[in-house]
Amino acid sequence: MKASTELKPRLYSCIKELHLPALLRSYSDAAGRAQKESLSYEAFLLEVLEREVESSWNNRIERLLRESRLPEGKTRETFDWKRLPPGLMQQSKVLLEGLFVERRENLVCFGNPGSGKTHLLCAIARAQVEKGRAVYYSPATLLVQELLIAKRELRLAKVLKRFSKYPVLVLDDIGYVQQDRDEMEVLFTLLAKRYERGSVLITSNLPFSKWNQIFKDPMTTAAAVDRLVHHSVIMELNLPSYRMEAAKKRSETKSGSVIRNK
Ligand code: ADP
Ligand code: MG
Repeated sequence: MKASTELKPRLYSCIKELHLPALLRSYSDAAGRAQKESLSYEAFLLEVLEREVESSWNNRIERLLRESRLPEGKTRETFDWKRLPPGLMQQSKVLLEGLFVERRENLVCFGNPGSGKTHLLCAIARAQVEKGRAVYYSPATLLVQELLIAKRELRLAKVLKRFSKYPVLVLDDIGYVQQDRDEMEVLFTLLAKRYERGSVLITSNLPFSKWNQIFKDPMTTAAAVDRLVHHSVIMELNLPSYRMEAAKKRSETKSGSVIRNK
């Protein structure tokens, strides 16, 4: 008994020193149970270590999710997969698995506003976070502004390096970027830097044929598109707007209830 009271503070300080918070919380109960159930030393050690591993993994995913800035709620669980044509649904399910990230392939998702581009790519990106990968999401306009400011402050190289640590970078709504020359240049630099180094996930309302509206001159447009499509999966969401459909359904139910109330 005396030995165990002496052991406790030493054990406590070792666990603290090694930063094992879940083990610190669980070992005392687990030790009591192990004694009662006559578990082997190995079985006890395995139990407490597995708890520590699980808790540290969960903390890591939570941190990655916070850092990703992915919009909340746009997950695979909330996405209505039946809205996609069967081929695209199949393709998306494969993308959720994330082999494309290992291959450093890009995803470019085209479609009209409201067709679900952002939700779909965010769901795919979030699935990568759940596998422990670092992801960064940004509306393209915001990212371009951030790069421009960095360029003006002579920090562009540093900021680009920071982005290069994310194996998955989501640029949402690239078509909406209203570029002047400087904006176009930083965007091009970003894409060129990431070429074959990490995946870029892009949504756009503009087909490639209209990307000269983004990159202004034909040479830069061709160079940007060429790099993007070299290793990429192109997805076309030619679907009616989800928002419009939802609004229509709402108004139908409303008018339905008006009729019933008559
Ligand atoms: P886009 O980026 O193509 O303009 P969004 O992804 O922003 O479209 O979708 C518009 C809204 O409709 C969002 O609130 C989104 O969550 C929802 N939405 C779109 N497609 C689906 C879907 N298949 N299942 C569930 N919600 C969807
Ligand atoms: Mg969108």
